[in-house]
Amino acid sequence: MPNFNAEWHLRYKMPKNANIDQRIDWHIRHEKNCNCMPIPEKVREAMAKKGF
Ligand SMILES: [Zn+2]
Repeated sequence: MPNFNAEWHLRYKMPKNANIDQRIDWHIRHEKNCNCMPIPEKVREAMAKKGF
C-alpha cells in the first residue's frame, strides 16, 4: 500500500502549467515526504540531464 501523505499534498500543490524545473522541484520534495507515486519517466530524464 503506497504511503500517501495527504497533509503534505494539501500544502504543496503542483502549480498549474508547471514548467519542468517546477516539476523536478516538486517531485524532489514529494519523494522526501510522500511515496504515493514514483517520479515520472519524463521528469527523471530531465533530472538526469540537469545532473541530479
Ligand atoms: Zn504523494
